[in-house]
Amino acid sequence: MLKDILNKIKSGYELRFDELVYIISLKKQDELEILFSKALETKNKLCGNKIYIRGLIELSNLCSKDCYYCGIRKSNKETKRYTIPFDEVIREIEFAYQNKYSSIVLQAGERNDKNFIKLVSEILENINKMTNNKLRVTLSLGEQSDDTYQEWFEKGAHRYLLRAETTNPELYTKIHPLNHSFNNRMKCLYTLKKIGYQLGTGVLIGLPGQTAEDLANDILFYKKIDVDMIGMGPYIPHKNTPLGLDTIKFNRNKALNLGLKMIAATRLSLPDINIAATTALEALSPESGLETGILAGANVFMINLNDYCYKKSYFLYDDKPCTNTNIKLFQQKINERLSRISQRVAYGEYGDSMHYLNKIKPV
Ligand code: SAH
Repeated sequence: MLKDILNKIKSGYELRFDELVYIISLKKQDELEILFSKALETKNKLCGNKIYIRGLIELSNLCSKDCYYCGIRKSNKETKRYTIPFDEVIREIEFAYQNKYSSIVLQAGERNDKNFIKLVSEILENINKMTNNKLRVTLSLGEQSDDTYQEWFEKGAHRYLLRAETTNPELYTKIHPLNHSFNNRMKCLYTLKKIGYQLGTGVLIGLPGQTAEDLANDILFYKKIDVDMIGMGPYIPHKNTPLGLDTIKFNRNKALNLGLKMIAATRLSLPDINIAATTALEALSPESGLETGILAGANVFMINLNDYCYKKSYFLYDDKPCTNTNIKLFQQKINERLSRISQRVAYGEYGDSMHYLNKIKPV
């Protein structure tokens, strides 16, 4: 059956709901290997043997939301809150630019206050001045008003990553307080698209109560909204959250495998988009999570540019990788790790997805 499905995948064939459920439910190791190698082959064919690099700046861990799974939720009083001062952010961006990352991601807890909106606008203005508009910027700053999204786009942001978290409205309600609106999250995604951002979304994989059918629907949603990029990863419990209290049932291996199956199924469904090998993979499989993600079809990864003192306070989940190593050394290590799997970092490339480039190509 798996071979029949994979044989059908030629350009243009759309994996059906039942086929996606089948893939996401695979358990046998030999079948998983067949699946991952087909996804890798697809990635190599459409995106090349290269991996796009993003410099990640976790700008602030203040958050007005209270998501039941997230370590920086506002009710977690154990976390020391920070916002990186403007000058330090600029230094991190300079580092990324000089080291040919060509693309950065600004992420933070969700903040809608005027100071924060202004800080982001000022950072964006400076990036363009400093780099002559030669650095691609992704924002991952949660739900904002239409005006704020518009303002940041006009100041020079190119891409926006807003995970749906799950596209099942009932499951969404179970993992968020009542005043967190699924409909608003969806509305934000459509607004971002309308404004002209390259659109990224994603889901938490392996949430309590989530089914293979839910995950198959998530992939169909990625297609429906016509995403350019995906950032999704396994759900990992955080001890100071309502959902993380019961960690006994959490199986790291199972979580990792489910995450990899989702990457592969997404690659086979949307062959030319960017898919990130997210940090959560590396958390579940230190020193090899990145490789397993790429070998399952991912083509993007992020290097955290923050100082150790900030990294220590951006714990979305337990065991989030948090090293104090020099970034240059870390980068060197990544180069070596990727060359061992016949891949290379695409330094100096913006890393827009082929899907996006094809869309904007004049006919
Ligand atoms: N405030 C921004 C960014 C949130 S943090 C926003 O709302 O988009 C980035 C992502 O971390 C979230 O979208 C969520 O999917 C992920 N995350 C949070 N808690 C997690 C957990 N326990 N396990 C895995 N990923 C988690």
